[in-house]
This record gives sequence, C-alpha cells and structure tokens, in this order.
Amino acid sequence: MKEHDVIVVGAGGSGLAAAVSAAENGCSVLVLEKRPEPGGTTGIAVGSFTANRTRMQRAARIKDTLDHHVEDAGGFAPRSIETQNNQELRKFFLSHTAQTLAWLEGMGLAFHGPNPEPPNRVPRMHNVVPNAKAYIATLQSKLIRHGGKLVCSSQVKGLTRDGSRITGAKVLHTDGSEAIYHARRGVVLAGGDYAGSHRLIAKYKGDQYGQINGINPFAAGEGHELAESVGACLINMDITYGPEIRFMAPKGKQLFEQLLPVSGPLAWIAGRLLPYVPKAIVNTYIKRLLVTWQHPENALFDDGAILLNCKGHRFCNEKSWPEREIAIADQPDKLAYLLLDQRLCERYSEWPHFISTAPKIAYAYVNDYLKLRPDIAVHGNSIETLFRRTRIDQRAMENALHEFNQYVRGNCDDRFGRSGDSHELTGNRWVLLGPACAYFTTTEGGAAIDQSLRVLDEQGQVIEGLYAVGQNGLGGQILWGHGLHIGWALTSGRLVGQILAGKPKD
Ligand SMILES: Cc1cc2nc3c(=O)[nH]c(=O)nc-3n(C[C@H](O)[C@H](O)[C@H](O)COP(=O)(O)OP(=O)(O)OC[C@H]3O[C@@H](n4cnc5c(N)ncnc54)[C@H](O)[C@@H]3O)c2cc1C
Repeated sequence: MKEHDVIVVGAGGSGLAAAVSAAENGCSVLVLEKRPEPGGTTGIAVGSFTANRTRMQRAARIKDTLDHHVEDAGGFAPRSIETQNNQELRKFFLSHTAQTLAWLEGMGLAFHGPNPEPPNRVPRMHNVVPNAKAYIATLQSKLIRHGGKLVCSSQVKGLTRDGSRITGAKVLHTDGSEAIYHARRGVVLAGGDYAGSHRLIAKYKGDQYGQINGINPFAAGEGHELAESVGACLINMDITYGPEIRFMAPKGKQLFEQLLPVSGPLAWIAGRLLPYVPKAIVNTYIKRLLVTWQHPENALFDDGAILLNCKGHRFCNEKSWPEREIAIADQPDKLAYLLLDQRLCERYSEWPHFISTAPKIAYAYVNDYLKLRPDIAVHGNSIETLFRRTRIDQRAMENALHEFNQYVRGNCDDRFGRSGDSHELTGNRWVLLGPACAYFTTTEGGAAIDQSLRVLDEQGQVIEGLYAVGQNGLGGQILWGHGLHIGWALTSGRLVGQILAGKPKD
C-alpha cells in the first residue's frame, strides 16, 4: 500500500518515537529509513535522558520544578550560544519530559539514576540500561506490534505537494527502484543532524571546519535539505556540539554493555536488578563508557600534554580550541596522539586531575586508560619503548620533544604560537594516548517549528502537512549538556504522533 496516515522520514530515536506514538493512537504509519537498519545516531549514543519531576526523582526524594530545570538548562552552553536559544520552545519541551520518560518506562525500558550533572541543581539524568540501542529495539518492536511498517534501505529524496500542502515522499530504494508514498495526515521529518556532512558544515560554519568528521558519518542533514527544498526556515545552522577530540572506539571487541540484552524480558530483569548490583561493578561499567566515549579534558593541554600526528610530528598549538581540532583534521589519516611525560602521568592519576569525566559520576585517570583501553593507551620508560609499541617514528617523536623543550627553556618561540607557562616533558615514564580524531558530536541547527511540531517557513507561516522532530526539528533550541538531545528526540516524536492522531498532547 502506498498511502498511509503518517509517513516518517528516518528510523532513529525521534522517528521511531513518532511512529509508535501515531500507531498506538490509531494511525497507519510508514517509516522510511535510508540505512539497512534502524538506529541512526540514537543507536550509537550512551542513552542519557534528562528530565524533571519524574517518578524516579520522586522515588529518590528529589524535589524538582519545571522552572528550576528551565533556568538550569540555560547554564550549559557558553553565553554567546545560549543567547540564540528559543526559550519558549525549550520550556515547552522540558514541560513534557516526565511524561515521555513514563511512556518509555511503560514500554519496559529501565533506567539508572537520576544522576547529577552540574549546573543542574538536582539530579535529572536518567540513563537507559544498557545503552541507547535499547530505545531503538524497544520502539521498533512496539511499532511492529501496533501494525506500523518500517522499510529500510529507502532514502527519501524529495517531498510531494498538492498546492502548498506536503502530501508525501519520493523514495529511492537501494535496489535502484523509485516510489512515491502518500501521507493523508502528514510527513514527519526525523532525519537527524548534519554532523557527518562536510558540505553543510563548511557551508554554515566555514570552510576551515569542512574536513572535520562527524561521529556518525551518515548524519548528512538530508532532512534539513528536504525541509529547505519546500521553503522551511532553518535556524542556528552554524552551531555545533564540538568539534572535540575523541579517542577512536575499540575495534571489533564487544564491550560488556554491548553484550547485555537491549529489549525483551532479559533487559527488563537487568534493569530491575541494577539497584542491587554492587557499586564497584556499576562504577567499572560507567568507567568503560567514559574511556570509550568521553573526550580528554582541556586541562591536559593547558598542563603541558603535546599532540603528535601519526608520523610523530607536532603540528599545532595544543592550547588553542578549535584551531587544534581543525589542525587534527588536516593530519595524515586525521589522527593525533597525546604524549604525557612522568609529571603528567603522576598528576593525572588522582583527583582532581582526570583525563575524562562524566561530572560527579565518574572520573577516568591514566591507569584507567591503560587498563580499560590498551588499544589506545601505551606506556614505557622511554620514547624508544613507545616507538616499539606503536611504530610511530622514534626520531620524529624525539625531535618534537626536543623542539618543545627548547621553547619551554626560553631558547626559542614555539612555532605553533603556544604561550604562557609550560613544563619540559621529561622523566622515566611516558604514556601515549591515541589515535584520537576531531569530531562533531552533533549539530544544533534545525527547521523552525511551532509547538505542534509543524514546520514553519521564512515568514513564520505553517507549511501544511510537514512536521519535524529530533535534531531535524530543533526549532532554535540549544540543548547543551547531556541527555537533552535524546530527551527532545523522544519527546518531540511522542508528541507529534499524538498530534497527528488528533489526540490532545499530554
Ligand atoms: C557518541 C554519541 C553519544 C551520544 N549520547 C547522548 C546521550 O547519552 N544523551 C543525549 O541526549 N544525546 C546523546 N547524543 C546525541 C543524540 O544521540 C542525538 O542527538 C539523537 O539521538 C538524535 O536523534 P534523531 O532521531 O534526531 O536522529 P537519528 O537518531 O540520527 O535518526 C535519524 C535517522 O534518519 C535517517 N535518515 C536520514 N536521512 C534520511 C533520508 N533522506 N531518508 C530516510 N532516512 C533518513 C538516518 O539514517 C537515521 O537513522 C549522543 C551523540 C553521539 C554521537
């Protein structure tokens, strides 16, 4: 059948939430996904969901209010970015987070927390167990149970119209066939962000950023372009989360958490048992996530860590963001390594000096990386040992060190413009962390929308029949911090499904 009540473009978190919500409220739904399987960026995320006035907060005797959350949410982004926020829309979103969490718990998803994340004044971060793949698996099975249809390997290339109303989607299937699908009530754009589009990043942020990869290379901004092709207004397209330095994810090896069931009765049991798991085990689990996904702290570079490329050469002023990330993307294979000497190894072995953190939850130090990520952390008592363990050119590394130490001793300027206090790198213990890349995690630009998730044009007029959710329909919100992007993806999806089914929003 080529006609449905609702067509959803994209089967990530927001698209599947929209589809389930519409289907459970009686709509016939078709989800079109360009990749061979659903998931999108949601499927590779950690899974934190930040919300206020939740059941779990009440169970932990945490008193929270919407107004406090609205105020705290404004404390994450730098001021220059926060001033671009759509206050009304973000407040509207935050007012619906608890209902979304309850909806997800009602499907059998289990959460760990609420966990603190300053500047939130109370713990608000709920972490799905075991990770964000659980959202995808659970929503997908719900969709099927409600009679919704998911078609993968089907890329939406255009939208159809009847006069000014959007009526459907033009699709290219991977077997080369094309089709048009009609939507009686609406088309929902849920195509994710554009962190993986070098072209869109260069267009909106500047050519110098155009070489930096997105963590999800398939996050190509197609939903944004579909919206724009029918006159939508795109907002905040130059704002990105990142670039940041991140270590490469482990290859081939499955993390313990990836072995945990993400849906079904076993996942439910795992979630219910979590409060009884000894804290030490939970901490190791969280540390594993930390050393896999979190970026190294800037303080490391301020304290003297230097960056080398895969040929052993220094190539930038390590203290300077985002020039440092831009320079990394310009290196062979876009790779960089952090070199720490004995002083830095000792300093970054205990509080308050850590390599990466989920603030107030867990902190990872040099030894955590050596133990949990031997694929990206090597140590030795000399540069020669580092060479033997990595095959990065010993002479080049020694030259880079020599040149850097000459600058620290005041014998020359740093040719990369580093200034201020720096220490010589020396001693009997050396650690090399990497490879690392510069990545955009996500992007904050999206289609303008109203509180019914309808897409707006440049004049603020509704484009009939067209809706946008998740990163595709951010509507000018700044969702800095952890847990608000997934919170928005799933909340906007849940709400648009209700709206399209003609049910009042709850
Ligand atoms: C490593 C990592 C960890 C993260 N952790 C968290 C976290 O813990 N908490 C949090 O709040 N946020 C987190 N984020 C951000 C968050 O995961 C995303 O912003 C959010 O999940 C996006 O959801 P979405 O539905 O908008 O997009 P996606 O989940 O990316 O879904 C978009 C889908 O649309 C499909 N698509 C795109 N174009 C087309 C087309 N033309 N036709 C058909 N299909 C198309 C894509 O293939 C994709 O499946 C993280 C991000 C990263 C990279």
